[in-house]
Amino acid sequence: MLRGSNFRRLNTGRVPHANHDKMFVAGNWKSNKSFNEAKEFANAMSAMPAIPEGVEVMMAPPAPYLAALGSSGLPCRLGAQNVSATGPGAHTGEFTADMLTGCGVQDVIVGHSERRDGYGDTDDTVAEKVNRVLESGLRVVFCCGESLQDRQTDVHFDKVLRQMESAILHLPLEVMDRVVVAYEPIWAIGTGLTATAEQAQEMHAAIRGWLVEAFNAEAAAKVPILYGGSCKPSNADELFACPDVDGGLIGGAALDPESFRAIIDAAGRVAANRMSIDTGA
Ligand code: PEP
Repeated sequence: MLRGSNFRRLNTGRVPHANHDKMFVAGNWKSNKSFNEAKEFANAMSAMPAIPEGVEVMMAPPAPYLAALGSSGLPCRLGAQNVSATGPGAHTGEFTADMLTGCGVQDVIVGHSERRDGYGDTDDTVAEKVNRVLESGLRVVFCCGESLQDRQTDVHFDKVLRQMESAILHLPLEVMDRVVVAYEPIWAIGTGLTATAEQAQEMHAAIRGWLVEAFNAEAAAKVPILYGGSCKPSNADELFACPDVDGGLIGGAALDPESFRAIIDAAGRVAANRMSIDTGA
């Protein structure tokens, strides 16, 4: 495998930083909100000023709300929190990637640690779900991240890069423009603990370096790498300012329209800054 030690070496300035067009802010409501609350959120978001230039936004509501919000609701990309690893057939309770497409879904979160830890999503299942999403023409938001024990025993790079290897390495180059990676240290999800900007940048650079070696520099630079784990209005500017952090996957702070919007605005400031650097303005 492409091992963590290689990526510490790559994290020395040789790896090109992100050059894809946009910052990406993705919300994940998990199993929260009544249907009415979901519609109220959509209305509140629609009443807000336009999403800043250079920012792409996605919200992933609970699956039963997808069709309704897809046809009339959220003024942003529509995401699903999960998908079946199987195709159509006798699979009670499952929903396929093609069914999501029919509901207006554009992005699918796969490999979230809550599904890996609580609902039996193994590395193989996650890889199959990634395949299904991409085969259906959707974009995948692939989650990876280490436990606190992994970090304390200094195996966090190996852990994350092994997850990348398991789900991403086999993909053909031509689908990589529909892959988003979300680095989510498990110890920071819903705990109020956040990775420092240095910890986030270091891991994002390692992931970028892995993508360079697995694919090529051009493809790697275009894959948005999001940070997730207690990202909120008070820390979004600092995290998003890291050169390899291209936005965030937001849980708790995405439940409130104002705080979600504040994070979108933080991404807007970073996008404006990156655009002015690109144009030399
Ligand atoms: C998440 O569940 O993906 C997440 C990042 O949650 P939170 O922002 O609440 O830590």
